[in-house]
Amino acid sequence: MSTAPGTPFHYEIEETRDENDFNVTVVKCRGRLVGKNTTEIREVVQPLILRGGRIALDFANLEYLDSSGLGAIVGLKVSAISRGHCVLELKNLTPRVKQLLTITNLLQLFSAISRCRICGQELNIPFKPETLDCGGDCLKCMADSGDPECVETLRQTLVDRRSTPVKPIKHEMS
Ligand SMILES: [Zn+2]
Repeated sequence: MSTAPGTPFHYEIEETRDENDFNVTVVKCRGRLVGKNTTEIREVVQPLILRGGRIALDFANLEYLDSSGLGAIVGLKVSAISRGHCVLELKNLTPRVKQLLTITNLLQLFSAISRCRICGQELNIPFKPETLDCGGDCLKCMADSGDPECVETLRQTLVDRRSTPVKPIKHEMS
């Protein structure tokens, strides 16, 4: 149907483990990620986000990414952040893709690791509910400081660590 030059977009999914022995789902992207393929990448990655955990999009063999492709990636990243307990990262960015992310000010969205303002612990580590981001502080620090909602949430998550991900708690300063 298409007469566009270059390798069409395709992907492979690989299940592996990270340095902390957590599952990582690597989606190896190849070819050209352009407008007509963005549905495909969304359909692949969205169910992984709902499942939670760590997802890496490997762009080592991605030949080209246009603004629609970039939009799809950003949409998935935002979806992963709002889901909580899901980390979506980009791996092996080619200089071209890196440049595209830099000029659109998006590189930071994908490279920033948030840390708790109190204890410095990395936030939103999959399957570590005590690291849940509660507005800049981790759930544990919030519970330690006596916030009743956080004490209760932490108590519940410790009862069943594999229960469904907890929704981030919006915190109002009083
Ligand atoms: Zn903390």
